[in-house]
Amino acid sequence: MICVLPGLYLGSISDAADIPRLQEAGITHVLTIDSEEPMQIDTFQTKYVHLLDDSSADLLSCLPECLLFVKQALEVVGSSVLVHCHAGVSRSAAVVAAYLMNTNKLTLEDAYAKLQTLKADVKINEEFVNQLSLYEAMGCDVDMTSAGYKQYRLQKVTEKYPELQKLPKEVFALDPNSVGQTTDALFRCRKCRRSLFRVGSILNHALGSGSAAFTHKRVTTLKANDSTNCTSYFVEPVQWMETSLLGVMDGQLLCPKCSSKLGSFNWYGEQCSCGRWVTPAFQIHKNRVDEVKAIQIRSLQKSKT
Ligand SMILES: [Zn+2]
Ligand SMILES: [Zn+2]
Repeated sequence: MICVLPGLYLGSISDAADIPRLQEAGITHVLTIDSEEPMQIDTFQTKYVHLLDDSSADLLSCLPECLLFVKQALEVVGSSVLVHCHAGVSRSAAVVAAYLMNTNKLTLEDAYAKLQTLKADVKINEEFVNQLSLYEAMGCDVDMTSAGYKQYRLQKVTEKYPELQKLPKEVFALDPNSVGQTTDALFRCRKCRRSLFRVGSILNHALGSGSAAFTHKRVTTLKANDSTNCTSYFVEPVQWMETSLLGVMDGQLLCPKCSSKLGSFNWYGEQCSCGRWVTPAFQIHKNRVDEVKAIQIRSLQKSKT
C-alpha cells in the first residue's frame, strides 16, 4: 500500500485485508474495484465496483461513481481512503490516475508517471489507458451525452455483439416522433415527413475511440455535420431501429412509417464516402432526409400562441 496524496492510498487485495495496518494508516474508507466482492468489514466505509481487468471492461463509465466516493471520503476531516483492486497494478491505478487528472489537473501522462514513481509495478492495461485518454479529451469528465462517449459506448456494445440477446436500452436515442415537441433541430423522412433523429444523434465519424482516441481532442471542435464530402449521416441507433438491428450483423434502415430506404447499418462497420471507416455504422443517406432547423420550430411555436 502506498500513499499517493495525503489521505489517498493505492494498494492490492492483501493490503485491504491487513486491518491493523489500515487502522494504523488512519484509513476510514475502502474502495474495491475487482471482479469479486470482498467481505464486508464494519470498521470502514466501503464501496465495491465490479470490473474485470481486461480489454472488454468499461472503466470509463465507472469513473464518476468511483471518484465521487473518493472525493466524499476526503472531504471528511481526518479521513483516509484506500483504493484497491486485486494486484494494485492496473484497475485501482487507473482510478487513482483519473482522480489525479480530475482533481489535481494532471495530464494522463503525468498522472501515470507519478504513480509509477511511487509504485514501480503500476501498469495500467492498454485498453484502460485508451479510455483514460478519452477521459482526458472530454475534459476529465464523463459527459454521457457527448458524441465521443456515445461512440465509445457503441464500440463497447459491439465488442460483445452478437452474443448479446438484447441491446442495452441506453444505447438507443429517444425516437423524436414519440417525444413530441422538441426545440432541437431534427431530420425527417424526405418522402413522408416522419421525424427520424435529432441533430444531437449525429456522431461525427472523425471521432476516434479505442486506439484512435488520441485524435479525439482535435476533432471535437468540428461541427457535427460539417463533413461536406460525406454523403451520409452516421448516427447513434434510434429507438425505431431496434427491431431491424437485432440478431443480424448488417441490413437496411427503412423509414418506420413509409418504408422507404434511408440507409444501412453494419455492426462490423461501413466506409463513408469520404473514405473513413466507422464501426459500428448506422448511416442515413443525406438525400433521403431533410433537416428541420430548430429556429423554424420555435417560430412555429410562437405563431401558434
Ligand atoms: Zn465521411
Ligand atoms: Zn418515410
